[in-house]
Amino acid sequence: MLQQVNGHSSGSDAQGRESLREDLQEFLGGEVPLHQLDDLTKVNPVTLETESAKGTSASVLRCLQARYTADTFYTNAGCTLVALNPFKPVPQLYSPELMREYHAAPQPQKLKPHIFTVGEQTYRNVRSLIEPVNQSIVVSGESGAGKTWTSRCLMKFYAVVAASPTSWESHKIAERIEQRILNSNPVMEAFGNACTLRNNNSSRFGKFIQLQLNRDHQMTGAAIQTYLLEKTRVACQDSTERNFHIFYQVCTRRGLQLPRCRAEMEDCFEVTREAMLHLGIDAPTQNNIFQALAGLLHLGNIRFADSGDEAQPCRPMDDGAVRTSALLLRLPEDPLLETLRIRTIRAGRQQQVFRKPCSQAECDTRRDCLAKLVYARLFDWLVSVINSSVCADPASWTTFIGSRGSLSRSPPSEKGQEGPGRRGSTLGLLRADPFSSLHPSPHPPRLLPALAPQVLPFLAGLLDVYGFESFPHNSLEQLCINYANEKLQQHFVAHYLRAQQEEYAVEGLEWSFVNYQDNQTCLDLIEGSPISICSLINEECRLNRPSSAAQLQTRIESALAGSPCLGHNKLSPEPSFIVLHYAGSVRYHTAGLVEKNKDPIPPELTRLLQQSQDPLLKVLFPADPEEKSQEEPSGQSRAPVLTVVSKFKASLEQLLQVLQATTPHYIRCIKPNSQGRAQALHREEVLNQLEACGLVETIHISAAGFPIRVSHRTFVERYASLRRLHPQGSPHAEQATLRALLQDILHTLPALEAATPAAPAGATPAPVHCGRTKVF
Ligand code: ADP
Ligand code: MG
Repeated sequence: MLQQVNGHSSGSDAQGRESLREDLQEFLGGEVPLHQLDDLTKVNPVTLETESAKGTSASVLRCLQARYTADTFYTNAGCTLVALNPFKPVPQLYSPELMREYHAAPQPQKLKPHIFTVGEQTYRNVRSLIEPVNQSIVVSGESGAGKTWTSRCLMKFYAVVAASPTSWESHKIAERIEQRILNSNPVMEAFGNACTLRNNNSSRFGKFIQLQLNRDHQMTGAAIQTYLLEKTRVACQDSTERNFHIFYQVCTRRGLQLPRCRAEMEDCFEVTREAMLHLGIDAPTQNNIFQALAGLLHLGNIRFADSGDEAQPCRPMDDGAVRTSALLLRLPEDPLLETLRIRTIRAGRQQQVFRKPCSQAECDTRRDCLAKLVYARLFDWLVSVINSSVCADPASWTTFIGSRGSLSRSPPSEKGQEGPGRRGSTLGLLRADPFSSLHPSPHPPRLLPALAPQVLPFLAGLLDVYGFESFPHNSLEQLCINYANEKLQQHFVAHYLRAQQEEYAVEGLEWSFVNYQDNQTCLDLIEGSPISICSLINEECRLNRPSSAAQLQTRIESALAGSPCLGHNKLSPEPSFIVLHYAGSVRYHTAGLVEKNKDPIPPELTRLLQQSQDPLLKVLFPADPEEKSQEEPSGQSRAPVLTVVSKFKASLEQLLQVLQATTPHYIRCIKPNSQGRAQALHREEVLNQLEACGLVETIHISAAGFPIRVSHRTFVERYASLRRLHPQGSPHAEQATLRALLQDILHTLPALEAATPAAPAGATPAPVHCGRTKVF
């Protein structure tokens, strides 16, 4: 239809094009080069019937490319902000001056699209509503797309704008909290990020940060929850990838018998240590941490040789590695070796204890398990230290600053019971949850402000999670990650549809999206009851029976054959199944899936670590006096198995509950090319991401309704040149004449004849509708 508008008459063509350009700008939120116009009309699919979805995404792509070439990295698309990674420093885009400009603007949405618009809108929603509504910002995109960068910039934004000083003291408190939230970044990144094929600073965990505001709308605290740390990376990485950054940083330290690392690591290490200090992790505690990490590196060097006799344990190929790791972890050397090589089993009626030498492969597994166990608990402990350092508990501001992460000193305290008791409770998080080494982490997002008297119950939540993943080999990690993305996509679609529906209702339009299919079918396949992929994998863990990868494939395929989201699995050399996700189909390999889901930790390993003389390990693995004998069960399991999948599902549901209680905002990060080069946009890669992040889906939904809406006045102003009659009246008319003008213009559009006031639900709506205040 817009083409018809353009072609109305040669005289008004330029004006029509200009108006159209403005419309598109409003839709995409920025400058659009005029030469791109013909392509861009497809972005704004007014002629819904003729526009194929493919054409739509290609047009969006062209638009993004044009903007990228012009160094314009942010673009609005409906209720989503698309963020292209510049892959080069653009300091002027993130200056405090610009932050203040967005903060001070009467209508920030009229400024150029930016993450600060989203940040400011979120902040205003929290401030201006009579009934405060919690806000959330969901940042998504694939690895290296810029999620963590975006989250970091938003935190900096809040640090600048959410700290207007009223009193000196409150200003100081806000400043301190902000600094700590910012300080948590280098620490979390050193321990949770690694260099991967896709991103040399890739976050290997999901993160939800709640920024808490007090009644003066100053940031008074934060709470961080992490999800599914990729702890397998501690033990093994792909040949092209690396371990977590901190291990390389630690190599710059002397006295830990480590190889010297490249000098540039020293600067990073300095930043990490400085940030730890600010979070209250004192130098002696830091030394404990680095020593334990070095211990893990030496542990990884232990190799075993088969003894050639099943009754004899494997022998270590190098005693030095055992000795050094025992020394650094402050573990007794013989029990360390014993635990790695010998399994204890309880069996028989009397539950006698048997000692069984492990095979070489089993020894390796136990060694890796020990390293993962220590690292995962250390990570969780760091998160808990960060949480206690940034939480909005007013008592913590005065009492515990500088001592939260200390192992050696008691925290300063006026009231005797508060000091050790409080510290005990911080660390008690680990003690309370025997599964804290597994993920998700035991720190649920806390709605702390509701409990703290000086803080109102609202906050802004910032979600930085791994995007949709599809590799040549996909396992439980990818299943969990993609499951989370399906859930978030459903949340997004529900919100988007609701928002659109509400506006139509207010405007008196009767168009309805009731027939719109969301991704519930796929979620049913993954998590539904009674039978789903998750339930079947959990069932295998519960039954604890020997079962091959091929059997698991058969079980999944036969039990779930009815699901339209289970792909046809032909010509697969390895046992696997295919899930048709909204973002594409993914083949999951079934080998090792059940074991990973169980994530068994031999109790001997935990008991060994409880013997450590290291103050840090003592905190991570406190001796439990009531602990019952926990030898490996020989046959069927006794306690219900809390699997990785069921814990992930529980924490995901908790997160969704928090998100559902908020007004969401979405930022979709896009990686223009996989080499990380500036000024290079690879069309195919970007198109895949547009599909994977649900943007194409959004356009479909948008196209199923009315993608463009302008106020009556704007409509008249823009399209006045199309009036059938050419009266002299000014477009800046009174309400009554405005309506008459509007009708006049609308009558020039042939499409209007097709427009009926009430379109039947499920059908494509008529092209133009005149609502109470807007033209759709
Ligand atoms: P993700 O968290 O999505 O995996 P990151 O946020 O770590 O990705 O971004 C990857 C890299 O891309 C960063 O290390 C940085 O070099 C670059 N980058 C991302 N966003 C920007 C930006 N807005 N400006 C400049 N560089 C950026
Ligand atoms: Mg990241």
